[in-house]
Amino acid sequence: MSRERKVSRKGIYNRYEPSNTPLNTYNIAAYWFIFRSNELLVEIRDNDVRIPYNNKLEELNISPIRTQFLGKLKDNPCYSAEVGFKTNTPEGMEFKDLRSLYDDLEEDIFLLAGKAIQIVNWDKNHQYCGRCGNPTENIKDETAKICPECGFTSHTRLSPAVITAIIKDGKILMAKHSRATGNPYGLIAGFVEPGETIEDAVVRETLEEVGIKVKNIKYFGSQPWPFPNSLMIAYTAEYDTGEIQVDGKEIIEAQWFTRSDLPRIPHKMSIAGELIEWYINKYP
Ligand SMILES: [Zn+2]
Repeated sequence: MSRERKVSRKGIYNRYEPSNTPLNTYNIAAYWFIFRSNELLVEIRDNDVRIPYNNKLEELNISPIRTQFLGKLKDNPCYSAEVGFKTNTPEGMEFKDLRSLYDDLEEDIFLLAGKAIQIVNWDKNHQYCGRCGNPTENIKDETAKICPECGFTSHTRLSPAVITAIIKDGKILMAKHSRATGNPYGLIAGFVEPGETIEDAVVRETLEEVGIKVKNIKYFGSQPWPFPNSLMIAYTAEYDTGEIQVDGKEIIEAQWFTRSDLPRIPHKMSIAGELIEWYINKYP
């Protein structure tokens, strides 16, 4: 079924128009991004994977815990919904882990599903005020909640993270992560901390994880990573000074690889895969 989609990075706004204000028209067909935990409900027809398109959720015999309006997709309203663990799967459909759908959904639909799962989780996790514990209310026309008791507002939250391809004499630095499952070698990556620029985070993470200094830090690209709420910001950089010395906690080993002796590399759905492809093309 998997079509091995080519990475294009055209982004989310190909056919999708965001909005927080639900349309006044009812009973018109809508796209439904329905999540049971991290699994998205999809319709599978003739090897084609689609997002359910219905007038109402009742037609699918589904009672959601909560729904959220997301805007319009190809001029049709578009909603996300959270359903309980015991929800039955409608005929001809399947609940599938969002990551596993990367090759099956078009890029903008996959990105929109990534937005939908983050809105669903944010809505679920912010039913009560984080400051005083009272029930929150949605703020009209915004993706935000306010506590009517103390006025505290909550917006959706992203956790920016950096990932860097570090080059020295035509070789790329790859590190073995202690908690990695499957693919042990990856690039140097980590979350941006308060007070840092993104470039500062590149410098600090590299120094912390492998003990070297980098220079000529250049922006490469970015990718929403909704597992659970990151934004990956990719850089390339050159080795400056220092000897590799791994931290022994997050990183247990690191070395410089040439193009011909690269370990198994990350799936191209991640921007890490694209960075490595960039390296392979630049240093043939
Ligand atoms: Zn409050």
